[in-house]
Amino acid sequence: MNCLICRENIEDGLLTKHLRSHKTTIKDYCLKYINRKCLYSGQPIEFINYKQYNNDIFANRNNMVLYLKKAERGEAEGIIKNLLGIRKIDKAILYLPGQTETRASEFIPSPLLCDQININYNQMGQQSGLKTRYNYFQKLSCHSVLKEELKIAVDNREQKDITISAKKIHMTLNVGDYTVLNQELFNNIYIDRKEPLDFIASMTSQIDRIKKELIRAREIGAYLIFLCEKPLTHMLNLENSDYYKRYTKVTGKYLFNNVKELSQEFPETCQFAFVPEGKKIGEFIKTLFLIKNDLRMVDLQFFIDKREL
Ligand SMILES: [Zn+2]
Repeated sequence: MNCLICRENIEDGLLTKHLRSHKTTIKDYCLKYINRKCLYSGQPIEFINYKQYNNDIFANRNNMVLYLKKAERGEAEGIIKNLLGIRKIDKAILYLPGQTETRASEFIPSPLLCDQININYNQMGQQSGLKTRYNYFQKLSCHSVLKEELKIAVDNREQKDITISAKKIHMTLNVGDYTVLNQELFNNIYIDRKEPLDFIASMTSQIDRIKKELIRAREIGAYLIFLCEKPLTHMLNLENSDYYKRYTKVTGKYLFNNVKELSQEFPETCQFAFVPEGKKIGEFIKTLFLIKNDLRMVDLQFFIDKREL
């Protein structure tokens, strides 16, 4: 690239050093000479580092959403592919992020946003070289009448006795806390119920234990749904809650970096979903087990945010 002050050709990585000859820092150089502006608002892009500064096209997530909602289809698709492509290279991801991962990322449009503006999210991912996991065009349907009573297995180590209107059978499960036992429903899918503080610990200090559980699940062809008892918005903003500040220094950003990492490391073995506001955990677990669609193909958080769950 050429230095924008003296036009000299500078090798990659040597710009900071070169700028010393102009008695300027990389930050001041970027802000003064590159001077990037948010595509939506025109406000200056914040400088965190050189790479981020040159990649970012929006000042914040909200501006990205507002811009994409009013952009023409072709332009919106181009921007989405660009944002996914940057993420793919930057974070070395292989799989198209699901709803939870995108909401925890600053500049990836969510599957739900794409759905709202009639853009095929999976197609955007495929064209950016990412593998897809979920079907975003399906309608969810539920078993309403079962031949027999709904039977839910509860792991013996599960400490909380949650209320589910089903027959609960206590046993030792290989992975997770809950699964369904009725033959017509069983699909080797398990739910790992997490209260917020347990979820935080699991994704931070106890992450090695979780990884072991996921390796075990993968080996036996099981699929794990980590179901947190609080809404996603709540968990993303941990540091704004006086309650959590008493127990942990973990920020939402740090917590969800690990969630995103696990989602990429075990893409066919797990997903993360957050119980919507006002729903009881027991009834929500029951709802999930009654879904006819293969849950491995259902981005649960997408349907939760779409208020279809
Ligand atoms: Zn120069």
